[in-house]
Amino acid sequence: MARYTGPVCRLCRREGTKLFLKGDKCTSSKCPISHRESAPGQHGAANARKRVKEYGLQLREKQKAKRYYGILEKQFKNYFEKADKKEGQTGENLLAMIERRLDNVVYRAGMASSRAEARQLVLHGHFTVNGKKVNIPSYLVKAGNVISIREKSLDSAKIKMLVEAISDRSVPAWLDVNKDTVSATVVALPKRADVEFPFEEHLIVELYSK
Ligand code: SF4
Repeated sequence: MARYTGPVCRLCRREGTKLFLKGDKCTSSKCPISHRESAPGQHGAANARKRVKEYGLQLREKQKAKRYYGILEKQFKNYFEKADKKEGQTGENLLAMIERRLDNVVYRAGMASSRAEARQLVLHGHFTVNGKKVNIPSYLVKAGNVISIREKSLDSAKIKMLVEAISDRSVPAWLDVNKDTVSATVVALPKRADVEFPFEEHLIVELYSK
């Protein structure tokens, strides 16, 4: 399935919750979901009133997670299969693994205003991991990795703006951001509790376990 390129606020309205896909707009009064909660489309309000069955709930939770992180179905299923083989709870393993994606790390470190922007910056080769250029958004970071903006990229006006904005963002405890060197160190691997969104991951596990 191709990547969704339509209006992203529509995705939030479909899920009935803020998925934080548009950077600063999401925390401003311009966020449409703050004053319009029904699903998009002519029958959005009517559909919202319908009783959502068990399968529907499970499906919506999976869609929410995919959209929140900007991941396509095939890759999401791959994460699930890997998480299922690990020790511990599959749902927790799944979210903790996705949280380690390089595009997510760049976003959580405050070096991009949204995960979509972070993905784009990584794809364009603006970041290094332990000094080596990495342009794969799905790259999974490890404890001790240092993620930096490439020296060459620091000349770009857009990157300069992002660097200035780093100071304004709160950063999770598993990342240590150094504003002077414009880098982030993964001090520990993220855990389920470090995921900001209140996912009900057991619904995703139930869906894939059918
Ligand atoms: Fe979702 Fe952000 Fe659009 Fe609000 S502004 S609907 S949180 S993408």
